[in-house]
Amino acid sequence: MLCPSCKKSDTKVLDSRDQGDRVRRRRCCLDCSYRFTTFEKIEVPNIKVVKRDGSCVNYDREKLARGISLAFEKRPFQCERVESIVALIEESILLRKDKTITSKEIGEMVIANLRKIDSVAYLRFVSIFKKFGSAKKFRQEAEKLS
Ligand SMILES: [Zn+2]
Repeated sequence: MLCPSCKKSDTKVLDSRDQGDRVRRRRCCLDCSYRFTTFEKIEVPNIKVVKRDGSCVNYDREKLARGISLAFEKRPFQCERVESIVALIEESILLRKDKTITSKEIGEMVIANLRKIDSVAYLRFVSIFKKFGSAKKFRQEAEKLS
C-alpha cells in the first residue's frame, strides 16, 4: 500500500475494523508519518454450484464453512481447520477451467480433505453427507479407517 503523500510503500496498520463485507484500516506511513484510511473488500471467487435438483446457485463460502464446522464441533482448532479446508477447496476449483461444480463434488472434496486432517470430523461429515440410515453403515465406514 503506497503512502498517498510521499508514495513510499512502508506503512503500518494502526487499527483494523471489520465492517461486514469489508475491512477498514487506519494506516500510518513509516516514512513521513502521514495517516490515511483504506477499505479492503473480500474478493468472492466467481464459482457456480449445481445442486442435486439441477438448479444453479452462486457459490456461498459461509454456507460451506457452516457445513464443515458441523463436523468439527468441539474438535480442536475448529476455526483454523474449517478455514483451511474452505481455502483448499476454493483453490482447487479456481484452478479448473470450468468454475461450475456440483454440490456432490464439493462434498467429496470436503471428505477427502477431512480424511487427511481429522478422522472424527471426517466420519461426522460423511454421516451427514451420505445421510447414513443405520449405525451399521457408520461402523463400516469407521472400520475402513482403522
Ligand atoms: Zn509517506
